[in-house]
Amino acid sequence: MDEKSLKNERGVVIEAERSKVSPAALVIGGGIAGIQAALDIADAGFKVYLVEREPSIGGRMAQLDKTFPTLDCSACILTPKMVDVGRHPNIELLTYSEVVDFHGQVGDFWVRVKKKPRYVHEELCTGCGLCVEACVWKKIPSEFDAGVAMRSAAYIQFPQAVPLKAVIDEKTCLYLARGKCGRKCEQACERGAIDFEMKEELVDLRVGAVIVATGFDPFDPHLKPELGYDYPNVITGLEFERLSSASGPTRGKISLNGKEPKDVVFIQCVGSRDQTVGHEYCSRVCCMYTAKQAHLVEERIPEANVTVFYMDVRAFGKGFEEFYDRVKREGVMYRRGSVSEIYKRGDRVVVRAEDTLLGEPLEMEADLVVLATGIVPRADVKDVAALLNLEGSPDGFFAEAHPKMRPVDTLNDGIYLAGCCQGPKDIPDTVAQAKAAASSAIVVLRQLQVQRTS
Ligand SMILES: Cc1cc2nc3c(=O)[nH]c(=O)nc-3n(C[C@H](O)[C@H](O)[C@H](O)COP(=O)(O)OP(=O)(O)OC[C@H]3O[C@@H](n4cnc5c(N)ncnc54)[C@H](O)[C@@H]3O)c2cc1C
Repeated sequence: MDEKSLKNERGVVIEAERSKVSPAALVIGGGIAGIQAALDIADAGFKVYLVEREPSIGGRMAQLDKTFPTLDCSACILTPKMVDVGRHPNIELLTYSEVVDFHGQVGDFWVRVKKKPRYVHEELCTGCGLCVEACVWKKIPSEFDAGVAMRSAAYIQFPQAVPLKAVIDEKTCLYLARGKCGRKCEQACERGAIDFEMKEELVDLRVGAVIVATGFDPFDPHLKPELGYDYPNVITGLEFERLSSASGPTRGKISLNGKEPKDVVFIQCVGSRDQTVGHEYCSRVCCMYTAKQAHLVEERIPEANVTVFYMDVRAFGKGFEEFYDRVKREGVMYRRGSVSEIYKRGDRVVVRAEDTLLGEPLEMEADLVVLATGIVPRADVKDVAALLNLEGSPDGFFAEAHPKMRPVDTLNDGIYLAGCCQGPKDIPDTVAQAKAAASSAIVVLRQLQVQRTS
């Protein structure tokens, strides 16, 4: 080892040659994990490239209404951090982008990022929404609203989006997909920001450390057809979040087809702790988000009857047990039971279950059933693992180097994990892990900085 070479925290040598690399970090995924990690690294004085696949950062937390157990409004605590990312002089935000090529080693990674064409020039777009209003094709289920509302082909992902810029979805835009449309959006844009000739761009980066914060997918309830997800009054936890959100399509009014539900049933552990769908693990958030959602129904529809079917209630975090007790005091009925079937009766549904405490079968009619769908690895988890040379855990999430002693490291030095891409977790644990990952990255970047200046 020559005098300019240094060891990182685990004794891995960062060679003098890498002193030419500018001490920058790459964060992949702009949910709360990536946002927190990017802010911490940037605040420590290092350049951060934050790559987000969607048009805006925010991830799943941006879709939530209130957050357990404190009932903070999710947008109120997330939006300031998103704005900080957008304004931070050390953060370069690459949204609507993905890493497509990656190689190198700790202290010197080579990264190629593909920026998908927005068909809207970001520097000209003011986020006024005129193109969105003008778009004639308004029939696409909104991904952000979990399909509870529709969006147009020209859209802004959500009102607090960062960056607050429109995007034209090439898969559904009538002009881009079929060449048939009066290009009304283009005529509506007073700044001339729309450009149908826009092409994808490739951006090459060289960074010293990488944080993977690609998050999770919600479990697909179609894989449990007996739970009747195709009925309009059976929805998922994420859909409920959009229904109850003040910024959602119903402005926070919990209603289906304009009618407030009177009998509401929540079913926990949908797709978690369930070998039949290959997910033996606990998703760690569903017990508490169900308690939160049951509380919101009680609060907004006081005359509603709310029942939760559960296997066990896992209220393990700070303030969780107290919150669960509060919800029961508010009148939510918890029944230990396993649900075997949901079927339609008129415009209501019937939940058929076994009360496992009484050992009795039962049937319960409901106007609304909410399936507490679990957290599963993202559909492209294997592709990302292959690209970054990461190991997977038996549950399908990315593997940490050691579950106790190196919980944010991967076996690929210089690449760290943050948030639900490593396994299910709530927001406090996600933020804590993101901060740990950021500090590990900062150690590497500091060494590179020392090399450059010595
Ligand atoms: C219904 C529901 C309710 C919940 N309620 C609460 C609650 O009340 N309180 C609480 O503490 N927790 C709650 N949670 C859990 C909370 O949502 C998670 O803890 C949190 O969202 C995890 O953040 P993350 O950044 O790890 O992942 P995500 O939020 O999934 O963010 C990942 C980001 O990475 C991006 N991405 C993915 N792949 C790529 C790629 N290859 N390249 C670039 N970008 C990529 C995604 O687009 C996304 O923006 C709830 C979860 C659900 C499902």
